[in-house]
Amino acid sequence: MSARYTATIGLETHVQLKTRTKIWCGCAVDPSADPNTCVCPVCLGYPGALPVLNAEAVRLTAVSGMLLGCRINADSKHDRKSYFYPDMPKNYQITQYDQPLCIGGGLEIEVAGARRVVRLNRIHLEEDVAKNFHFDQSSGVDFNRAGTPLMEIVTEADLHTPDEALAYVTSLRQVLLYGGVTEGNLEEGNLRCDLNVSVAPEGAEKLGTKAEIKNMNTFRGLHRALVYEIQRQIQVLESGGRIVQETRRWDDDLGVTQSMRVKEDSHDYRYFPDPDLMPIRIPAATLAEWRAALPELPQARRDRYVKALGLPEYDAGVLAATREVADWFEDVLRGCGNAKASSNWVMGEVLRVVGESGRPVGELKITPAALAGLIKLIDAKTINQTTAKEVFALLVAEGGDPDAIVKAKGLGQVSDSSAIEAFVDQAIAANPKSVESFKEGKEAALQHLVGQVMKLSRGKANPAMVIPMLRSRMS
Ligand code: ZN
Ligand code: MN
Repeated sequence: MSARYTATIGLETHVQLKTRTKIWCGCAVDPSADPNTCVCPVCLGYPGALPVLNAEAVRLTAVSGMLLGCRINADSKHDRKSYFYPDMPKNYQITQYDQPLCIGGGLEIEVAGARRVVRLNRIHLEEDVAKNFHFDQSSGVDFNRAGTPLMEIVTEADLHTPDEALAYVTSLRQVLLYGGVTEGNLEEGNLRCDLNVSVAPEGAEKLGTKAEIKNMNTFRGLHRALVYEIQRQIQVLESGGRIVQETRRWDDDLGVTQSMRVKEDSHDYRYFPDPDLMPIRIPAATLAEWRAALPELPQARRDRYVKALGLPEYDAGVLAATREVADWFEDVLRGCGNAKASSNWVMGEVLRVVGESGRPVGELKITPAALAGLIKLIDAKTINQTTAKEVFALLVAEGGDPDAIVKAKGLGQVSDSSAIEAFVDQAIAANPKSVESFKEGKEAALQHLVGQVMKLSRGKANPAMVIPMLRSRMS
């Protein structure tokens, strides 16, 4: 970006909530269902059909607001937003206008090592619309999506670079996944961002005219679209032109934004309270109950792993990235008490298996208790690292208890001195040349003999006992 301009970005993120049924009716929310099979007169928008609010959608929105530090409006209501579009046969969307469920709040982001808070304006609860499909000769509308509960999270115009916007959506998704409020699946369109972008000469008091880019559902696309749009607006201004307030779309193949329509002002929507729906009132006791059940957030967990467990910043970030892995890690730690070893095993072997199998960590055959048991066997020097890897592979393949596996397969490290003596004597007898080299002062020969003992013991001899024993036998 040219140093003479400042870009200002605000985001409106639509998030599909993880409910079993739709917001105004009992139809299932099921993205895998055949088109137009999860529908009824309410979500098809038939005249006279009456909506009934899904309480779980209210809870998930309020919980999101609590996680994002919003003030929760105990009293709110739904409004009609009028517009015509073929994917919305009612010709209005039921949304929230002047009394949204959540107000204010903020989300911490980190860009290039610096942390700051992006202020939020509001979160409101509304309905998703149907989905249009365009074929060669015709178009179709699938109403399965119509009426999916959707919350819209609106930031203040508080972001200034594409990197900040990317950090915001990444962090937002992570927090919402921690809260269990959405599936967060980008390809399925569970999370879609509208970007408001303007540029103004550096130091200008007034923001420039903004353009809105609709429906970004990939993080990479969002970043590219912002880089392009900021540059486009600067070029328009540099060449003496004027930015028009409009809605644009991002063409990912061409790598450009294109004008779709001139943007409506809010008075064009003719908002008014929906007469079919009761106002929402959430009792204080219910809010307190929801607040008491909030999970610890990823950022807080990361900080705790660094401060209380002494883990490196990077490791803490990897472990805290998803709630599932973080919980799993903490279960291992609780079982064995060794933070560094738990962290190393989870970050290394466990996440490798997760990556290779494509299974979430909770569905692996190895349990946190089993890994904790394995770490305890290593710490007690019952087995060495090589054997531990072998046992780990067995636990991944078949599950089970590490103690039992070590006993049944005779994998325990041999610390019985008479047994080790026998291996040492065998190694010395079989390698006279090495013994001679050692006596001439060549230390490398000792390593060779240690290797022979380990081989004879099939890796089970305790190396800490082998070396002194070899030395004393050859002196
Ligand atoms: Zn329905
Ligand atoms: Mn909306």
